Amino acid sequence: MKRVSFLLVALLQGAAQEPARPNILILVADDLGYADVGFNGCTDIPTPNLDRLAKAGLRCTQGYVSHPFCSPTRAGLLAGRCQQRFGHENNPAWLPNDPVAGLPLSQFTIAQALKSAGYATGLVGKWHLGAHPSLHPNRRGFDDYYGILGGGHVYTPGAKGGGEYTIPIDRNGKPEPHDGYLTDLFTREAVAFIRRQEKKPWFLMLTYNAPHTPLQPHPRHLELLKGIPEEPRRNYGALVAGVDESVGGVMAALSEKGFAQNTLVFFISDNGGPTGVTRCSNGPLKGAKGQVYEGGIRVPFLVSWPERLPKGGDYAPPVSSLDFYATAAALAGAAVPAEQRLEGVNLIPHLSGEKPGAPHECLFWRTGGGASGALREGRWKLVRSRTAAPELYDLEADPGEARNLAAAEPERVKAMEEAYAVWDRDNVAPLFESPKAGKSKK
Ligand code: CA
Repeated sequence: MKRVSFLLVALLQGAAQEPARPNILILVADDLGYADVGFNGCTDIPTPNLDRLAKAGLRCTQGYVSHPFCSPTRAGLLAGRCQQRFGHENNPAWLPNDPVAGLPLSQFTIAQALKSAGYATGLVGKWHLGAHPSLHPNRRGFDDYYGILGGGHVYTPGAKGGGEYTIPIDRNGKPEPHDGYLTDLFTREAVAFIRRQEKKPWFLMLTYNAPHTPLQPHPRHLELLKGIPEEPRRNYGALVAGVDESVGGVMAALSEKGFAQNTLVFFISDNGGPTGVTRCSNGPLKGAKGQVYEGGIRVPFLVSWPERLPKGGDYAPPVSSLDFYATAAALAGAAVPAEQRLEGVNLIPHLSGEKPGAPHECLFWRTGGGASGALREGRWKLVRSRTAAPELYDLEADPGEARNLAAAEPERVKAMEEAYAVWDRDNVAPLFESPKAGKSKK
């Protein structure tokens, strides 16, 4: 008996020494400009909660998403690999009877990986990865889902909108009335998910549709933006303020439950800002949503994990939303099928300073089945398109991509074109097309 209890004590001590696996929270804004958050220098839109999150962790100054628009970025994030590998290169139209227009079932998602590792999993917000019931978030690894299944939605109950913008809210496959300001509903549900958690580690994705159009701010957020004279930017800014307030509410719930120290939080936008549409700003970056210039793919990007990571600094080497899966799987000890072939990197040893050197040698982008593309390799960026000569930029000297060095560096262009072709060999043709312009364009 004595021996048994000795063993038991030893086992318990062993368990106590094993650090608890972190909770993982991924916050995604929609169409938020690089320069429209205080932590990236914005002065006319207040984002105190996001700025606090930046101070509690690291600001990645060269944080990228894997695509310059909505759905493909989300597909890459959920699959942990370049979405062109599996044909998810366009926005699926709202087609509830089409099992192809969405994230292919061949992909084992980050949520499936974390669920299989014993995590409680939840998604609140925008899905945009397929309207067919077989593609529903509950079928893709999320125990709990509350949100809007399409590419966007009206914010204010009763507001008019086209396509899926006025469909009921979905809770675990069942329709619910849209009975409150949308960002507030998402906050309420994310907070409720966090409050429900007790023993298991958990994974929550909170994917806002803000500050995407329609520009329907809540009056209390608009009140904060009175100083902005131009209407679209004032309304857009109020949507950003809504995201910020929501993040504040979610972070307060973490503290309340004692989760603040051991939760890894990522914050990104799903693509760069559509400057011509909402008068958002990508600051010094060239281009906008839809383009592979920096303004389309480099986004506000934060990582915080008070228990493990430095606080309040910058991390400069390029990182990607493709890295979230590899990071989460490593921390959770999740088994990921070999055929998933993750292309991201566990960022923690890099962000903690344990591993010197950049996490990525190269990062690649491709849109429209190859209509445009880009390769980032160290300080260099190649921008290519089917209809124009390749462009080369030195992002260290010229982050605004103003000086095309292709003519001066033909050898480098050639080598980068070759590297791009090697990457492109493993891509497939898009499985579906984006809805035609004007019809629910995301
Ligand atoms: Ca978007």
